[in-house]
Amino acid sequence: MIQFSARVGRTRPAATFAMAARARALRAAGHDVISLSIGEPDLPTPPHVVDAAHRAALGGQTRYPPIAGTDALRCAAARKFERDQGLPATPADVLVTNGGKQAIFDAVMSVIDPGDEVLIPAPCWAGYIQVVEFAGGIPVFIDCPAEAGFRVDAATLAAAIGPRTKLLVLNYPNNPSGAIADAAMLIGIADVLRRHPHVLTISDDIYEHLIFEGAYLTLAAAAPDLAGRVLTMSGVSKSYAMTGWRLGFCTGPRDWLAAMTLVQGTATAGVSTISQAAAVAALDGPQDLLEERRTIYRRRRDLVLGALAGAPGLTCSRPEGAFYAFPSITSLLGCRTPSGRILGNDEDVANALLDEALVATVPGSAFAMPGHIRLSTAASDALLEEACERILRFCITTCNH
Ligand code: PMP
Repeated sequence: MIQFSARVGRTRPAATFAMAARARALRAAGHDVISLSIGEPDLPTPPHVVDAAHRAALGGQTRYPPIAGTDALRCAAARKFERDQGLPATPADVLVTNGGKQAIFDAVMSVIDPGDEVLIPAPCWAGYIQVVEFAGGIPVFIDCPAEAGFRVDAATLAAAIGPRTKLLVLNYPNNPSGAIADAAMLIGIADVLRRHPHVLTISDDIYEHLIFEGAYLTLAAAAPDLAGRVLTMSGVSKSYAMTGWRLGFCTGPRDWLAAMTLVQGTATAGVSTISQAAAVAALDGPQDLLEERRTIYRRRRDLVLGALAGAPGLTCSRPEGAFYAFPSITSLLGCRTPSGRILGNDEDVANALLDEALVATVPGSAFAMPGHIRLSTAASDALLEEACERILRFCITTCNH
């Protein structure tokens, strides 16, 4: 028997991937499952981006890259941070990572020691909980209920900060709620952070281009005086439909980036040169595709909201960004499903939806907000219509059972 490290012992697999695996197994067994579990664009990577990768590979860009990223991509990302996010950056202020996920891994591993507390507004992407626990840190959730627009309340944030608080993780547009940052929230957060100079912030802006109503705002641009302790991260996965290319980037204080580069150099020897060439083409190429895709995702959001509006037992607030719906399912609790199961919590609801309605979703408890389920709206209109129809039928029969 292998004696695994304590670190592995406290690490759990992401619930999103677990649900996707269950959906795949059911499909392999011949069931017609619709999977809305993983947050992944169904649209293709733009052809000019694929071409750039092809040319890079044929042209010999096949050697080890610098750990922090190629010069070409650090330049393109610096221009992008300035253009899209209002953050002044030079190439030396950019670290290129294996997906946005590694930027968060590098950032957490470089500042969190066992016992350090990390404030995470909930609901939150499950990946934060995973990496904080891996590092031995303690996730401290800040409740951001639907009634508050899933946004951080400054007083609640202030009350959660203690002597062991090291880090705050912000994520707007938010996975899973779709909430976006507004000026009032960022001003409130900045005021609290000014009173607590020992607290660092990661701003995960991976959904920055997926905003349907309102404007994109980010902490480091809204409060430049805090830029010395805010790391802003983004990537090409969601905006340019490049999840499989594993390409992210971040900007922030140089000492933090240097420590992160050390972590990254310990784990990997940098990011695929071919993916980096592709990302340069994505960032420097035509940007009108972002608006085209935003329009598609907005239409799908409206389709799902409209289709689920009549579903008894579900209450869905309006996501302002990202590509998820995050309805409350609390009115379904205590009800009996068509096959006779009593729904005790959100996990029961997600499991019953998969087994009885053949739609894979993710329970809200995976995002530190039980009482909800998350559906990805990054699927074709036809699939979304069929999935909503199945959910509707499930809710009607469950509520009448
Ligand atoms: N942050 C959030 C909020 C996400 O939803 C995801 C992907 N699901 C990531 C980071 C990771 O992105 P990447 O695929 O670029 O690693």
